[in-house]
Amino acid sequence: MTQSDSSVPQLGNATGLSCRECGWTTPLGPYYACAECFGPLEVSYKFPRITREEIESGPYSIWRYAPLLPVPADIASRRTTQPGYTKLIDADGLAGKLGMRQLWIKDDSGNPTHSFKDRVVAVALAAATEMNFKVLACPSTGNLANAVAAAAARAGIRSVVMVPSNLEGQKILTTAVYGGTFVTVDGNYDDVNRLASELAGEHDDWAFVNVNVRPYYAEGSKTLGFEIAEQLGWRLPEQIVVPIASGAQLVKIDKGFQELVELGLVEDKPWKVFGAQATGCSPVSEAFANGWDAVRPVKPSTIAKSLAIGNPADGPYVLDVVRRTGGVVADVSDEEVVDSMRLLASAQGVFGETAGGVTLGVLRKLIASGQLDPDKETVIINSGDGLKTLDAVAPAVRVPEAIKPSVEAFQAAGYEGE
Ligand SMILES: *Cc1c(COP(=O)(O)O)cnc(C)c1O
Ligand SMILES: [Zn+2]
Repeated sequence: MTQSDSSVPQLGNATGLSCRECGWTTPLGPYYACAECFGPLEVSYKFPRITREEIESGPYSIWRYAPLLPVPADIASRRTTQPGYTKLIDADGLAGKLGMRQLWIKDDSGNPTHSFKDRVVAVALAAATEMNFKVLACPSTGNLANAVAAAAARAGIRSVVMVPSNLEGQKILTTAVYGGTFVTVDGNYDDVNRLASELAGEHDDWAFVNVNVRPYYAEGSKTLGFEIAEQLGWRLPEQIVVPIASGAQLVKIDKGFQELVELGLVEDKPWKVFGAQATGCSPVSEAFANGWDAVRPVKPSTIAKSLAIGNPADGPYVLDVVRRTGGVVADVSDEEVVDSMRLLASAQGVFGETAGGVTLGVLRKLIASGQLDPDKETVIINSGDGLKTLDAVAPAVRVPEAIKPSVEAFQAAGYEGE
């Protein structure tokens, strides 16, 4: 290493990066691929002793777990969107409909830009700032664009976000409103991702949150695991169903659970991790069903656009986690996605986006197939807000004709009998 110590960023208790494939290590810095084998790098730490009480007295955001993240120690006082600490809903209405004993919904639509992406972006931004990046950038399937544009606006820096041009209108508008450089690209997400990788190579002061600072970005998803355990009263659930796009969220929730066990913050017990995809983009589900270790890329075609990554970077690691814990990866059709979005709304009063429909759809499918135990305590993730994917449900939802403001008209329309 030719770097002097002063150029190594100070990111809390993070100590370096190591290769997930071969174990090669390097000091902290803007690196994401192993110099030996090109494998993905992951943050390593030397955790201090930390108590439940210390965490509980922290801010009501992901920064209550700052000592377990690659962020500077004073992060809570910096200009961030303060994501996290979203509701864990006791979904008794939905559980009743599904014949389940205990179901919880971790509702990440409650984040600042209404999806779980605010978590990962906040961590990426904190690390990128310490590494002297000047611009926050990303290729996105939509929610990441919202989160990056908002986080950069909050921090007062430039953003460059790139999305496929066929994205939901709601996600385009809710990105553009924050200002920043906004690029819509003729192509699918995998095309946009390739373009981003090329641009990252040419602009060394641009932090593409999910490309060149990906090791830091991905760590943000651990906070979903931390929060679920804390909100359950410092316990782990027995089963959890997680939507898969790149797969990082699923892998890191499991890592979060493992770290809580290692730190003695929760009791060790077995948990099963289940993965959810839409059939129109189900490369990980296909690999799981066929017993493959590698994931074969597909061309996505589904209404679940936030999950439409045909070549998921963390696919093989998802397979590892799911197989190790005894879970399953499954997929559901677009019709089942819409049906589950409506069930989530009508049975529980939660309007999730298509990804929430995918996750609930897979839960229902796995109960029906006997692969998920309805008597075990289960958590599902609702990772985004239904208001951002209105077009997906619009054809299936009855919108009433207007009536005259009279009792006769009300009765004539048949509303009294409903
Ligand atoms: C990005 C995203 C996911 C999955 O994220 P990965 O970590 O890439 O698997 C899930 N749900 C929603 C709504 C998303 O935007
Ligand atoms: Zn390696």
